[in-house]
Amino acid sequence: MKLLEGKTAVITGASRGIGRAIALCFAENGAHIAFSDLAYDEMAESLEHEAGSFGVRCKGYASDAGSWEASETFIREVTADFEHMDILVNNAGITRDNLLLRMNENDWDLVMRVNLKSAFNLTKAVQGSMLKQRYGSIINMSSVVGISGNTGQSNYSASKAGLIGFTKSVAQEMGSRGIRCNAIAPGFIETEMTAKLTDEIRAQWITSIPLRRGGLPADVAHVALFLASDLSSYVTGQVISVCGGMNT
Ligand code: NAD
Repeated sequence: MKLLEGKTAVITGASRGIGRAIALCFAENGAHIAFSDLAYDEMAESLEHEAGSFGVRCKGYASDAGSWEASETFIREVTADFEHMDILVNNAGITRDNLLLRMNENDWDLVMRVNLKSAFNLTKAVQGSMLKQRYGSIINMSSVVGISGNTGQSNYSASKAGLIGFTKSVAQEMGSRGIRCNAIAPGFIETEMTAKLTDEIRAQWITSIPLRRGGLPADVAHVALFLASDLSSYVTGQVISVCGGMNT
């Protein structure tokens, strides 16, 4: 029996990077996948095929997770297309790094909207059906910098710290109804998001990591699989770092 057999997972921002690795890992473990990204492009189409090759249903939707209206429409469509929703992964996220001195209001607002408000939008949209079925696992993609802070990332760190507060509150509110909510705090993971960093910054990060390498999207996906599955049935309100020991 696969760990997520018969479950349906909703994953935001999954066409590439960590979200894509989670979608593939969940599909391999038997979950049907409904995923969103800003556009339905060739990456989304290829994810549908790759995940579908595991014998599950996988469908991509173009939806901005930062928009309340778009998130409601997305979940309405998923509800019509899939029988139920058991797992929600709030993964969509962006960076707009700058020193506070140079950061403008738009950089702040956009990061808050995509990284933090998105989790509110999607959690609100799925909570009714999860409450009714008295079952659900919600996973919020935070970051080690949401715990430690980071120069040049005051907007991003604040949004990721906000996700931790949101996670713990949802866990406390919804635990008695069989719904768990946890956060993952990845460290330095090799994706398009970190490919933008200079070689100097990458080298600095890597020397500060006890395991001496950047993480792979699959490293994060394996922890998400644990949190999504009943292996973690007594785990809620927690933040699990996947950072090669960086935050130790
Ligand atoms: P990525 O940039 O490779 O992929 C993010 C995906 O989200 C993209 O496909 C993008 O199009 C999509 N997206 C962006 N805005 C969206 C929106 N408004 N609505 C829907 N989709 C949207 O990033 P990644 O490295 O895979 O990061 C995934 C998550 O993990 C993010 O929340 C990020 O903050 C977090 N994270 C990443 C790292 C890292 O080192 N890569 C570390 C800590 C946390």
